[in-house]
Parts: sequence; structure tokens; C-alpha cells
Amino acid sequence: MSKEVVLEKLVTNQKRVDFYFNVKGGIQKYFKKSKHLFFKYNLDIEEVPTSILTIPFIANIIPLVWLTNSKIIVPELDRAFYDCLPKLKEAYQDMFPEVKLGGEISVSSIIENSYTPDHEAAQLFSGGLDALATFVRIREKKPILITEFGWHKDHIENSEVWIQDMLHVTEFGKRKKLSNMLIESNYGTFLNASIIDRDFAKKLGDSWWHGLHHSLAIISAAIPSAFLLKVECVYIASSFFEGFKAKCASDPTVDNQIRFASGRVFHDGYELNRQDKVGVLVNYCKKNNEYEKLRVCFLKENNCCNCEKCIRTMVGIIGEGENPEKFGFVTSTNLSTHIKVFLEENVKYFNGSKIMQWNLAKYKMRENRENIQYQDLLEWFLNYDFALERKKSLIKYRITKFIPIIKRRIYTKLTNIFVQNT
Ligand SMILES: [Zn+2]
Repeated sequence: MSKEVVLEKLVTNQKRVDFYFNVKGGIQKYFKKSKHLFFKYNLDIEEVPTSILTIPFIANIIPLVWLTNSKIIVPELDRAFYDCLPKLKEAYQDMFPEVKLGGEISVSSIIENSYTPDHEAAQLFSGGLDALATFVRIREKKPILITEFGWHKDHIENSEVWIQDMLHVTEFGKRKKLSNMLIESNYGTFLNASIIDRDFAKKLGDSWWHGLHHSLAIISAAIPSAFLLKVECVYIASSFFEGFKAKCASDPTVDNQIRFASGRVFHDGYELNRQDKVGVLVNYCKKNNEYEKLRVCFLKENNCCNCEKCIRTMVGIIGEGENPEKFGFVTSTNLSTHIKVFLEENVKYFNGSKIMQWNLAKYKMRENRENIQYQDLLEWFLNYDFALERKKSLIKYRITKFIPIIKRRIYTKLTNIFVQNT
């Protein structure tokens, strides 16, 4: 049987659009039973044409269609988006040369949509470091701030994380006199990502969500409202740095190809590494004497200050001569001790890219030595050799982990011999 995804019904109701679809053939296992994808906006989208509303539906599924050499069938699609699809596919193919991308899209009518832009920019805005750095860079354009929560199940459920996100970004928007676009969806849960990973992650060298899905999901969700508000360009902040080529769906080679009606997408800040971004933000805050609370912990209400991302960001802020507390990282312990204890326990898990990022903060600290507020940290951190400490920690970990196992094995063997002999 041919492998097909067919859009059966698109229902709009004020601020909401629901897609109901059918899946045929061997790709059914990759979809949840409900075959339902929805988006809810904080503005009425009933006037948005079907050909534009269909964009997020296609964008969330087409990488899977390519990966599984299947077909996706929809009645209508926007011309600009339809035309950019081969370029997106090519960009993915370059990123994942190990897999052959195939598949096709069938559209009954391709519709020309256009507008004269009313807003120069909209920006995907999580409140994290990447997003804040991009905001600082494009603030003169007065971007509309787009914030999303894609983790609902089939229905909208109460989520503390989303409530906190909304409070945070709307407060920011109010203070900066910018409007907020808020979007809720189930794009993060409507597929069986673990089954896709089971079949493809090894070949791809990356997960479905990270490697192929998330960037298109996030960007395309914003397109219906960007169309409605006549946005010229949707900015998405880079999470990777061009100096460290990573496989990831969120890449300028993919994002910058996206077109819809008269709008386009720009992947911002790719030339900046994470420490550079901390610098951009710290300088901006110092100049305004207004400190922004960073939100870096994924799917958490507050920064935990204990995970790698939190602590790496804190070290980055210290490197710029600032106090992490002003940016929303509050710890009760002495910072130098806090970081030391974290590294003792966790440096063994650091891969090459993590070590590179931590080193960027270390070099900054070295360069900026006289402005660092934590002398006790400087005493040991500047000479901390991440690669060496990782090696040492791994040896120690293996010894403490394996000696009891070996002991137990010897004991079991001896007991077996003893039992057999009696
Ligand atoms: Zn954290």
C-alpha cells in the first residue's frame, strides 16, 4: 500500500485551527492515534486563507514524508511556501547525506497570496539567551514577540510552564512597548517521535525532533499570524554558531529558505558564539541599567541553577564581569563552590562541543580578569582544564562503579562453586 498523509478536514474557530488527517500504509506507526494537529493563537485567525493556514500542517509533517519516501496530499497551499519546499528539502539533504530523501507533495490548487508589509519584523521569543541577543540586535525594528508552547496533548491543558512563559514574555513586551503573539499547539506530541527515532536516529546521527522537526514546527506555527499582521520577516535566533557546524533542523541553510505570501524568515546571530551573545545582552543591560531575567531551563518554571545550561550561562555572565543574580540565576550557596561541585559531578559528561563552550567563558574571564566579581572562582577556574578533568573524572567514575560489580561477580562465582561442591 502506498504511504500517504491526507488532510481530511481543516476547521477554524475564532483563534483556533484544527487539522484532522488520515494516514495510510507503513508510516501509520509514526503518528498518534488521534491524527490531529491544532494551533491556537491570541488573535482571531478566521480571515486567514486556507492556503496559508495549511502551511504549519505541511511543515510539521513534510520532513517525515521526505524521510519515508511518502506522499502528502492537501487541497490548497500558498504559492511562495510551495515553491520553497524543494529548497528546504535540498538543505536537509545536504545536512543528512546518509539518508536519501524522497517523497512528494500533491496540492490541488496553489494560491498566490501577497501583502504590503505593515511590520518589519516579528521574532520568535522564548526569553532565553539566543532570543534576547537577537532582540537586542533588531530592537530598532520593534519586533512582534512570538512565544509558543507546543507540548499540549490532544487538548489544551493547564501548564504551569506555559503560564510562567506567558507572564514573562508579556511583561517584557509591555516594558519594551512591543506586542506579543502567543501560540499553543500539540506539534511536539502529535507524532510518535520515539518510533521515528527508533527507525532513523542512528542513520541520521540525530533525533527527529532536534534534527528535522523543531525548527519548521516553531517557525511555521507563527506564519498564519505573521500573515494576518503583514510581517515582512520572521526572525529566529540561532542556537548554534557557524564556527561549530552542528546537525540541527534550526540552521540558516534551512530557515532562510522559508517563504510565505510576501513574508520571509531570517536565522539571526549565526556568526555569534554563546559567549558573544552573553556579551551583547550584558552590554545592553548595563547601558540601560535594566537587567533582563534570562530563561534558559527547558520546560521549567524557573532557572534551576543546577543543570549544565544554567551553570554554563552563569559562568558566561560572570565572564562578562556581571553578577548572574541580576539575570535571574539565584543560588543560596557561594558561587565558586556551586560551580566547583557541579563540575566535580558532571564534567565527565561533557562532549567536545560542551568543552568548547565552557572554554569560551573561561577565555573571556581571563581576558576580563580585573572586572570579575568572584575572586575565589578566578583562583581555580582560569586554569581548569576541562578535557583533562573529564578524563580524570571518567577514570574515577569507572573505578568506583566497576569495583563493586567485579566484587559481586567474584562473590557469586565463589558461592556457585561452593554450592556445587556441597
Ligand atoms: Zn537549569
